[in-house]
Amino acid sequence: MNRPGSSLATVPLPAANQTIYLDHHATTPVDARVAKIVFDVMVSSFGNANSTDHIYGETAASVVADAKCRVAELVGADMENVFFTSGSTEAIRLAISHAIGPTRSSPLRIALTRVEHQAVIDTAHLAEQLGLAVITWIDVDHRARLVSGSLYTALKSGTDLVCVMAANNEVGTIYPLEEIVPLVHTHDAAILVDATQAAGRMSFDPFGADIDYLILSGHKIYGPKGVGALVSGIYEASQVYGLGVTHDATPNVPGIAGMGEACRIMLSEGEVETRRILDMRDRLQTNLVRQIPNLVVNGDQQNRLAHNLHIAVPDTPNDLIVSRLRKKVAISTGAACMSGAQSPSHVLRAMGMEAGLQEGALRIGLGRFTSESDIESAAAEIIAAVRDVQKAMAGKEHE
Ligand code: PLP
Repeated sequence: MNRPGSSLATVPLPAANQTIYLDHHATTPVDARVAKIVFDVMVSSFGNANSTDHIYGETAASVVADAKCRVAELVGADMENVFFTSGSTEAIRLAISHAIGPTRSSPLRIALTRVEHQAVIDTAHLAEQLGLAVITWIDVDHRARLVSGSLYTALKSGTDLVCVMAANNEVGTIYPLEEIVPLVHTHDAAILVDATQAAGRMSFDPFGADIDYLILSGHKIYGPKGVGALVSGIYEASQVYGLGVTHDATPNVPGIAGMGEACRIMLSEGEVETRRILDMRDRLQTNLVRQIPNLVVNGDQQNRLAHNLHIAVPDTPNDLIVSRLRKKVAISTGAACMSGAQSPSHVLRAMGMEAGLQEGALRIGLGRFTSESDIESAAAEIIAAVRDVQKAMAGKEHE
């Protein structure tokens, strides 16, 4: 991995890892420019941003305000509507709890796509178990594209909140928000868009400001872990179900500054970066398709995240492939709700993928620091690992 300028003189960094990192949907390495800002702010702007009677607090507050601007610019929203959280999961919980509200007399009617992230699904399920919500599912097709009739049916039968992610974290399919956001509003419903994977990688212009709850996370855009944002023009902390917020927690100023810098870099470099990554992804895909018989490429190949390559090697257990690659290439099985979990992926099931393909599903995610030589070496290693596993399985069958 080529990481220019990644030596912060004052911060001891662990030894460079020789394993090629291709799991950028799980998390991204922190950009050295972001790390520098985090470090500088942590050391120099240590004031409490809520304690603005003096210059220390004022400086910290201005760091937070600046970061709000950067986040807002990235998604075409207003800076007053940016609320920092500990990540996307917390932002999603706050958004849904806010949609429920403190004094609801009937359950919130939530419609969510079957391929939402577990953080959205779990929150909605919990609300349903508590009698605070009822869920309607929006179907997807074999490429994880939204079935528009299913969305219409949900809206026509009465929905308060629609949850549609900007892009899927497993197969990369991008959703047509420019059509969905106005449609949802025409039916007097609110919309929650989980943009965790998409922020900085697709444009939110001109509908970003119209999204009622928009969700982002720092660690998916080369920023720090443990910081994210809820961007919302309707959010009020006092209106969150069961929370009764009376006190603003001390903001994580260094993390927030890092998230702001990550957004700034994404805004200024994202377009060029995306083209470079797309080119590498397409070459990797061509190489794998040529060399691995019957390989299936998943997701919407006409409209998916540039850094996503989700493949399935028929009837070849993905856990055996990744374990052979363990020290060489970091990719994820992608056929689990969470990598490492035993249950099959709800996304692949919602797409109607047959079991033999689910078994061989692999998620590959390229990133900012992925080099051409990484891609060449990774292709060779993945092809060798697949052949190795297939040979071992054929041998077992003949025993
Ligand atoms: N939503 C999506 C689409 C994600 O990919 C993730 C993380 O994998 C999350 C939400 C949760 O993000 P965080 O780790 O910031 O809580």
